Amino acid sequence: ESFNAAVAEAAALNAFIVTTPDHALDAADAADKARADGKELAAMAGVPIGMKDLFATKGVQTTAASHILEGFTPQYESTVSQNLWDAGAGMLGKLNLDQFAMGSSNETSFFGNVSSPWQKSGSNAAMSPGGSSGGSSSAVAARIAPAATGTDTGGSIRQPAAFTGICGIKPTYGRCSRWGVVAFASSLDQAGPMARSVEDCAIMLGAMAGFDPKDATSLKMDVPDWEAALNADLKGKKVGIPKEYTMDGTDSAILDSWEQGKAWLKDAGAQIVDISLPHTKYALPAYYIIAPAEASSNLARYDGVRYGLRDLPEGAGLQDMYAETRAAGFGDEVKRRILIGTYVLSAGFYDAYYTQAQKIRTLVAQDFEKAWAHCDVILAPTTPTASFPLGSLNDDPLTMYLNDVFAVPASLAGLPAMSVPATINSDGLPLGLQLVGKPFDEQMVLNAGLAIQ
Ligand code: GLN
Repeated sequence: ESFNAAVAEAAALNAFIVTTPDHALDAADAADKARADGKELAAMAGVPIGMKDLFATKGVQTTAASHILEGFTPQYESTVSQNLWDAGAGMLGKLNLDQFAMGSSNETSFFGNVSSPWQKSGSNAAMSPGGSSGGSSSAVAARIAPAATGTDTGGSIRQPAAFTGICGIKPTYGRCSRWGVVAFASSLDQAGPMARSVEDCAIMLGAMAGFDPKDATSLKMDVPDWEAALNADLKGKKVGIPKEYTMDGTDSAILDSWEQGKAWLKDAGAQIVDISLPHTKYALPAYYIIAPAEASSNLARYDGVRYGLRDLPEGAGLQDMYAETRAAGFGDEVKRRILIGTYVLSAGFYDAYYTQAQKIRTLVAQDFEKAWAHCDVILAPTTPTASFPLGSLNDDPLTMYLNDVFAVPASLAGLPAMSVPATINSDGLPLGLQLVGKPFDEQMVLNAGLAIQ
């Protein structure tokens, strides 16, 4: 009965593109057997998780929520998903997302919008679960899956986690292999866990991470036992508060929750220090040049020959097939990114846009490097607002892009960053706080998150 209720709720939220109950049941059986045989259980033995449909899963349709990949069934498994199966986890299904992970509301999926299980008090309007990992945040917040994978290019783990009152961590760039993850912007894309607690994130990140020779940007570093070293005692630690992390339109409830977060970290023994990250305001514009530039190159591979959809009108030639397939297969937001990306990389505009954006990226990274002389971890809001009703920002891509204004700087700098649930606003909606750490110092991020959760 509870299984059927969960299936009905998942269907109402539209969190899954396909379900794979047998995969999860096999993992549960394997865990039972290991237990009966008195064997030591792997870190995630029998845990049924949701898999963002951006990870290639062998024999299971993988779409990136795009029509152009509909029906594509990979013959290989992504490294991250394989690592999770090796740790004993099983898959409940492939989770809906913004198409090619482009979006902040889960409204760009070919398979329809995803709803958050949360609603504003006094309203029954369907709310956004955030994006792009909105199927992941919705399923975890609705208690349909105890945990799910996400990916974060410019906030897609942290913003949906904040919108739905769950935890999500984007590790240092290179911690999780990108092999078998549908590419959006390769210099930014990172996988990470989304779950209900900091502890669960620590366990799952441990299972997902690790050096992979198949990813040229994979970090050749040991994976520490983050869960074992969790410690909410922050005595002797300094928490930096960046003065630039406010903007016009930031909810006062967000600023209040930031104050509350400082107080909690102080109670945990930390010292609060003011810091400055002066190039913060240039990070979002730079991101919206760099990410589309890389996307326009990565998405060139969808040609109607190698994957999924092929649109070949009667008597058409090769060029026509490319054009027809891409016109029919990509959604509007994806086309917008390809157009922007192609434009900023074109001969006449490269220096004016792409080169400038790369310089800003360096300045943003240097801001953080300087800040580490003064603090061990940074505390900031995850988003400038709480969740919004589905449909309310559709005509306003620039306001939509602003969702990630506080998330993008850590992405450009490749730093570990986590969102943890902090408070509930006067509409009854959750707000998240963000912790940003030094390169490779996921532990500090998790420990500070633990002190807040
Ligand atoms: N919302 C941002 C974008 O649309 C970030 C997406 C992501 O992190 N995948 O590009």
